[in-house]
Parts: sequence; C-alpha cells; structure tokens
Amino acid sequence: MISFNIPPFTGDELEYIKQSVFSHKISGDGKFTKLCTEWLEKRFGAQKLLLTTSCTSALDMSAILSSFKPGDEVILPSYTFSSTATSMVLGGANLVFSDIRPDTMNLDENKIEAAITEHTRAIVAVHYAGVACEMDAIMDIARRYNLLVIEDAAQGVMSSYKGRPLGTIGDFGCYSFHETKNYSMGEGGAILVNNEAYMERAEILREKGTNRSKFFRGEVDKYTWVDFGDSYLASDINAAYLYAQLMHADEIYDDRMTTYNDYLEAFSPLEKKGRIELQKIPDYCVHNAHMFYIKLRDLEERTRFIAHMKSNGVCAVFHYVPLHSAPAGRKFGRFNGIDEFTTRESDRLVRLPMYFGLTAEDRAKVIDVALDFFK
Ligand SMILES: *Cc1c(COP(=O)(O)O)cnc(C)c1O
Repeated sequence: MISFNIPPFTGDELEYIKQSVFSHKISGDGKFTKLCTEWLEKRFGAQKLLLTTSCTSALDMSAILSSFKPGDEVILPSYTFSSTATSMVLGGANLVFSDIRPDTMNLDENKIEAAITEHTRAIVAVHYAGVACEMDAIMDIARRYNLLVIEDAAQGVMSSYKGRPLGTIGDFGCYSFHETKNYSMGEGGAILVNNEAYMERAEILREKGTNRSKFFRGEVDKYTWVDFGDSYLASDINAAYLYAQLMHADEIYDDRMTTYNDYLEAFSPLEKKGRIELQKIPDYCVHNAHMFYIKLRDLEERTRFIAHMKSNGVCAVFHYVPLHSAPAGRKFGRFNGIDEFTTRESDRLVRLPMYFGLTAEDRAKVIDVALDFFK
C-alpha cells in the first residue's frame, strides 16, 4: 500500500536528538529551540517567532492575545481544520463562517465585508494547501474596520504572497510542525508575532505568566509572575528533530515540488478535457507543494475514486467536513450568507499521496492507478 503520508526524516535527526539528550537540557528554549527560532526568523524575515507545542497552541495564543470580549465575533472559513475554530472559541469569540473561493479553497475576500458586524474583532486567514489567501484585500478590510488578522499558516511554511512569507503578514501567524506537515517535530508549531504591541505579552503568555524570557535576555535581574499565562514551550528534543529538517529545508521543498510537478503533468490533460479540476496557484503566490488534490464531479464519484485507489494499493484521502455543519460548529457559530462553494467543493476534493521521499516508482504507480479510473 502506498501511504498517504510518511513523516519527513532526513537522517540527521537522531544525531541532534542525541546531542540534546546528552546536553542534559531537554526542556523548552534550549539550544535547538534557539537554533530553530533563529533559522526561521532569518529565513522568513520574522521579527518575533516563538516555538510552541503545536499550531493549535499558536492559534490559542493568538486568540488569547486578541482579548475577545463576550459577544465578539471572528470571521473564518468553514473549510478548515477544527483547530482554527476551536482556538477562537477557547479565546471567547463567536464564529462567523464565510464562504470560500472554489479556485484556491481559501476565504473569498469579496464576501468578507458582508460578514462584518459591530461585534467583529478578527479575521482568520487559512492558507489552504500552502497557497496564500488574497492578503492585500484582507489586510485592507482589516485596516478599514480595525480588525486583527490571524494567519493560520499551518500548511504554509516556505510559501509566500507577493514575495512575503506566509505567517509574516497578519498581526499573528501560526505554523504547524505536525508529522503531516512539510517540516516536522512530531508535534509542534510556532507563533509569529508581527504586531509589536503583542510581543512582550506573547512571551509572558507562553512562559506560565512569567517574564522569564526577559530574564534570560538579561533585561531584568530576576523573573517573576507578571500576568496570567500557560505553558506552550516545546521540548528541545522535538526541536532537535525539527532542526535537522530545517537544515534540509530546500531539499525537502524541491523533493515535494518534483512530486507536485509530476502529478500536474500527468493530470493536466484530464483537466483540459474538462474531466477533473486541479488546484489553482495565483501568479502572485509561491506555494510549497504541501498538497496535491484533484476535484471530481461530486461526492459519489469521489467515493468511487477513493475505493478504486485503495483496491489498487494507493491511499488517497479527503478531509474537512465543513465546520459549520459539524455539531460544535452549529453550537459556536453561524454561516454568513449563502454556502455557494464550501460544501460543494469540499465534497469533490481528494488528495493524492504527497511526502518527502515519495519515490519515482511509487509516484508512477499513483498516476497509473488514478488515470486508470478515468479510462
Ligand atoms: C494541521 C493544521 C492545524 C493544526 O496543527 P497542529 O500543529 O496539529 O496543532 C491547524 N490548521 C490547519 C489549517 C492545519 O492544516
């Protein structure tokens, strides 16, 4: 069976983990956390990046830092992972789901304004498949209505919008280093705090409500409990795993892109014939080959396609049942306007195996089996 995903492994991970273990400093903010943070900040030109235990906890931090008051609303897509929504609920906000664009599966920037009320406080832009949302339009709306922008860039590490790395554009950006993402540390993530007004508070929130980060920088001579907080530090053992990946970041990127381009070449003729649809990458976006998906006619055809792939040894998957139709989505939110594309497009989408190290032989098999379905 060809797996849908295998976590990235470059070969240096065990050596770095060993170094971490024998340094006897395996808690958070150790040597490897620092190395990862420096690398990420430099590579993406981020002012302040903090490693966290997951993208979900980075989203939690963004929501808590936003200080929502009862009745405040957050606009987000319904076609996303539960974390995007549940973090905002944890932060105290009501959810307002807005429709997506069928070409990128991202928030339709032209429908956002209609979802704004006097209670709206923030927009969560989810960069699906590592393809950017229309950030100029979203930032313009946010400025005009005085809203915060939280980028859920869980899938967008190494992607950019008009030359700007995803995660660095909004007030907050959130990365995931889960085993299913392009770069991994098992479980882990990062928050990028791009708005200076929140930088110090973010450190305190992450460090159990203390000013320990300031203490480590020598800015205060003892550290103390200064505000409420939580613990979002990832273990340095996990950071050691991530550091090995970051040292091979371009190799991982290129390898995934090779798979993406092979798939693209193989499936383009079917798209030209109008038989399937492929994901669209707007000119101004550089993506990271996080995902390759195709869209079939409808749910029924997709179900047959997945069964066909499985019976021929290939694991193809769909995901995201729209959140507004899920029990918690109905409880905590509402869909604004008409669901023109969210449900329809999510029913048709299927993802093909995509991971670092997928062999040419396996890629060819995935393509053969898939093309066979359309004969
Ligand atoms: C994976 C993912 C998350 C959650 O990431 P974790 O690191 O597992 O918490 C959140 N949002 C999106 C869009 C994701 O794809």
